[in-house]
Amino acid sequence: MNTRLASSAVVLMLALGACATNRSSPTSSVSTTLDPATAVQALKDGNARYLRGDVQTHDWLHERIHTTGTEGQIPSVGVLTCADSRTPPELIFDQGIGSLFVVRIAGNFQNDVGIGTFEYGVAALSVHTIVVLGHTKCGAVTATVAGKELPGKMNSFVNAIKPALASAPKGADGKISTTDAEIANVRWQAKELVQRSEILSAAVKDGKLRVVGAMYDVETGVVRFLD
Ligand SMILES: [Zn+2]
Repeated sequence: MNTRLASSAVVLMLALGACATNRSSPTSSVSTTLDPATAVQALKDGNARYLRGDVQTHDWLHERIHTTGTEGQIPSVGVLTCADSRTPPELIFDQGIGSLFVVRIAGNFQNDVGIGTFEYGVAALSVHTIVVLGHTKCGAVTATVAGKELPGKMNSFVNAIKPALASAPKGADGKISTTDAEIANVRWQAKELVQRSEILSAAVKDGKLRVVGAMYDVETGVVRFLD
């Protein structure tokens, strides 16, 4: 992060002092921190526990509530995922209170509010990894592929997802499958999330932030990280 951005981050932390974290390490034996080098593997391991049904987070839930409530949050991983009721990231990755910094919106697309949220997570908290997590059978992506007008404000997410479809492969019939559209949406939103943010771009360039895409299968519960 360059000097100007670093000073901006300090101003931000001071301005948000009322809700910013106490960055000292928790005195509790319970850690909410994931190491940058192994964060993705830790999420994979958590998903494996979720699939086996031997989740760990509830074993020390009350201790985590107390620790994070009194000493502050130190989330390591940001997650941009869909509002879909089948995609709760804390459950899918078996992560407890204080670990994940989450933005959820239909179609898991980036916008100014989401970008600003992650900028705060990176600059003022301790987020070093962001996962853009799409999922199968996504209604928002399905509606976008169908290309129909939706009532009310629902076209807002269709319009936000539509540009992502330009990079999706087309079948022999010239059409884009929903699965390919969901994957293309993850990749495109992850790219835009970084490119549209000076703070996130600088953090990636400085090696302080990694942004990865992943797909969640709502039928099997499996998370597949994309290349
Ligand atoms: Zn969805």
